[in-house]
Amino acid sequence: SQNEQDNRFYAKFAKITMLEPSDSQECKDMMKAAFEISETYDTPVMMRMTTRVCHSKSLVEYGEPLPQKKKEYVRNRAKFDPVPAMAKGMHTEVEKRWKTLCAFAETSGLTQEEWNGGEIGIVSAGAAYQYAKEVFGDGASYLKLGLTCPLPIERIRAFGDKVKTLYVIEELEPYIEEQLRAAGIACVGKSRIPVEGELNPDIVRKALLGQETPTFQYDKSIIPIRPPMLCAGCPHVGFFYELAKQKDVVMIGDIGCYALSGNPPLNAKDFALCMGSGFSMAHGAAKICEKFGDSHKIVGVVGDSTFFHTGMNSLLEAVYNNSNVVLVVVDNRITGMTGHQENPGSGHRLNGEAAFPADIEGVARAFGVKDIHKVNPMVLSESREALKAALAFQGPSLIITRYPCALKKYSKEDFEEFGCDRTPYAVDEDACIGCRLCLRLGCPAISFDKGRKKAVIDRVTCVGCGVCSQVCPKNAIGKVGV
Ligand code: SF4
Ligand code: SF4
Repeated sequence: SQNEQDNRFYAKFAKITMLEPSDSQECKDMMKAAFEISETYDTPVMMRMTTRVCHSKSLVEYGEPLPQKKKEYVRNRAKFDPVPAMAKGMHTEVEKRWKTLCAFAETSGLTQEEWNGGEIGIVSAGAAYQYAKEVFGDGASYLKLGLTCPLPIERIRAFGDKVKTLYVIEELEPYIEEQLRAAGIACVGKSRIPVEGELNPDIVRKALLGQETPTFQYDKSIIPIRPPMLCAGCPHVGFFYELAKQKDVVMIGDIGCYALSGNPPLNAKDFALCMGSGFSMAHGAAKICEKFGDSHKIVGVVGDSTFFHTGMNSLLEAVYNNSNVVLVVVDNRITGMTGHQENPGSGHRLNGEAAFPADIEGVARAFGVKDIHKVNPMVLSESREALKAALAFQGPSLIITRYPCALKKYSKEDFEEFGCDRTPYAVDEDACIGCRLCLRLGCPAISFDKGRKKAVIDRVTCVGCGVCSQVCPKNAIGKVGV
C-alpha cells in the first residue's frame, strides 16, 4: 500500500503463513519457499513486500524452473464451498493447520541466527534487518526472521536468553515486539524506535545508540522544490486545466497518474481515497449535495484501467440511483502509473496478443447513461464544451477523454487513430508578453526566464502535444519550423 498500513496483522488475523524477504535474492528464493509451504501445509502464504525491498535492486541467482504439473480436479465442498455448514468445519481445519504451522516455524530454515557474542541480540526481518546490520555490524548477534507468521517464539526465547539486551527492530507497529512480550520475552523496541514512517540506518542508529550520522550540511532553502507532476504531453493536462477553471466544482479523483491533478499549478482534484473512489465517492457526494440543496457540482475521475477494474460498478450505481454527477474516464489507452500494462480496453493482452478492446461508451450505454461526451483532450475547446454540457445536465453524465499516454509505445492501432507528430513547440520571444499563462499547465517542458521575462520551451522535453499553444493569448507558441 502507499499508506503506512502494517499488513503483517492480516496474516496473523487470517492464521496463514507470512514470509518477509530482505533483498532481491530472497524475494526470488522465498517465493519458491512460499509455494512449497503452501503445497505442504495446504495454506495460503503471504509474501510481505515493503517499499524499500521493492525499490532495491541486486544480483539474483536463478535456479532451474520446475515443471508444472496438472492436478486433477476433485470435488471437495468441505474445503471449497464456505456455506455456513461447511464454514464451521473449515474453522476447525484452520485451527489444526495453525498448530502445525507454529511447529513448522520453530524448525524452519527461514529463521537464521548469526552469533557475534551475547552483549546485544537483535530480532528483525525484511529491510529492517539490513538496517540493523548496517548499524551494528559484527557488534551484535542477529536472529533474522524470514517467516514472521507464525513467529518462532521458542527460538526467539532461546536466542533472547543468550543475550544481555534484546532489541526488536521492525518498521511501523510493534507486531513482533507485542508477541514477544505476550510470551514473556523481555525486549526493547518501540519505546526507542519510531512507530511512524519508514526506517533507515540513521534512524535506527539514533534510536538505539543515540548517535547522529554525520552528514553534509547545506542551505535547504536554495534547493528548488520539485513536486511530482504530470509528464510533458500528458493527455490529462488539458482536461484538468479546463476542469480547474469551472466554478463550484468538487473533483474527486483516484490513484492513477491523474492523482497528481490536485497539485499546483493545475489544482483540479479536491480529494481521493482508493482505486475506484473517483466514481464511487463522487456518486455519494452528489447524493449528499442533492439531499441538502448544496449547489456544488461533483465531478468524479478514473482512468481507463481503473474503469474496467473497479469503476464500472460505481457507474452503474450512479445510473441506478439517478445521481446528478459528472463522471469522467481519462482514457490514455494503457495502465499508466504502474508501468504500462495492457488492460481490457487497450486492445492487447498482457502477453502482447491482440484482444477485443472493450468499449467504455458501449458499457455506459448498456448501463443506461444517456449523456455521453467523447473528447480529444489535446483540443482544449473539446474538453471545455463537454464540461459545459455535462455540468448543465441533470442526471449522470459521462465524459470520455481518449488519447495515448505520452510515454506509451504506440501500437499499430494507435498510429492509425492518433498519428504521431512529435515536432516540438517553441516560444516566439518577440510575441511573448510574459503573462505566464502557459505555465499554469504545469508542463515540465515549459519554464520561465525571469531575467528576460519570457516563457521558454525545452525542445528535448517537449513532445509536441500543442496544448500550450492553445492557452497562449498572444499566439506566441508554435511548432518548430512551421
Ligand atoms: S507542446 Fe507545450 S504543452 Fe505540449 S509538451 Fe510541448 S511544451 Fe508541453
Ligand atoms: S502564455 Fe504566451 S505570452 Fe504568456 S508567457 Fe506563455 S508564451 Fe508568453
